[in-house]
Amino acid sequence: GQQFTGKVAFIQGGSRGIGAAIAKRLAREGAAVAFTYASSADKAKEVAQAIEAAGGRALAIHADSSDEKAVRQAIQAAAKAYGGIDILVNNAGVLALAPLEDFKLEDFDRTIAVNVRSVFVAAQEAARHMGDGGRIITIGSTNADRMPFGGGSVYAMSKSAIVGLTKGLARDLGPRGITVNNVQPGPVDTDMNPANGDFAETLKGMMAIPRYGKDEEIASFVAYLAGPEAAYITGASLTIDGGFSA
Ligand code: NDP
Repeated sequence: GQQFTGKVAFIQGGSRGIGAAIAKRLAREGAAVAFTYASSADKAKEVAQAIEAAGGRALAIHADSSDEKAVRQAIQAAAKAYGGIDILVNNAGVLALAPLEDFKLEDFDRTIAVNVRSVFVAAQEAARHMGDGGRIITIGSTNADRMPFGGGSVYAMSKSAIVGLTKGLARDLGPRGITVNNVQPGPVDTDMNPANGDFAETLKGMMAIPRYGKDEEIASFVAYLAGPEAAYITGASLTIDGGFSA
């Protein structure tokens, strides 16, 4: 279907993995898509070219999510190019794992800046460019609910922060019919968490469905939440994790 024809989607972190799949999916359903990248300029260009080759509209914008000004400027540029923002997806995220005694405070600060602060900044800025019925979707993690191994305290904290942020933003924006939701994936095969990595067998042993998720499966759920059928879902943290947290 073409449920997003005439809509504009802005995705923080769309050059690789789950974010790239979301950009392609929303574009395939008719959205004009703007997405940011930080380090992967070539990958970002490939995503934009793939969308355009399929007949869609795409804009790749360099903006590090830890840089408030860059995020605001990227959203303003997208709103100007496409005429507003209808859907904001906060996907950019970093995973710093280390034993407690080695964990660097600069990784703590970067995790908070990218995984949490950028979500607030983008929501604040995008809301200025959004009409009634807009959508804000953040990619959290099942690790907000279950952190079954050591070294991940800061990552888990950052994804738990999104649970509360989502609830509060839903209250801020509900009167305008804008929904705000948090999608919590389990293991998904990406550069961050490769299905052939050292850790994969351990993770699969913790799941009801012992396989990695596909980035398209997360994108499909995001497309549902971004669409008109999901207008009554807000403030929710919704888990899609193969039963990792069951
Ligand atoms: P990847 O590491 O494969 O891709 C991360 C994406 O985010 C890239 O496009 C990257 O762009 C972008 N990004 C990272 N940091 C920044 C930044 N500072 N500014 C702008 N963009 C940035 O990760 P995944 O696709 O696996 O993860 C996407 C989201 O899903 C994250 O929030 C992650 O925490 C979450 N998640 C992932 C799971 C998994 O198993 N894969 C499980 C649960 C949640 P660039 O390369 O250009 O920097």
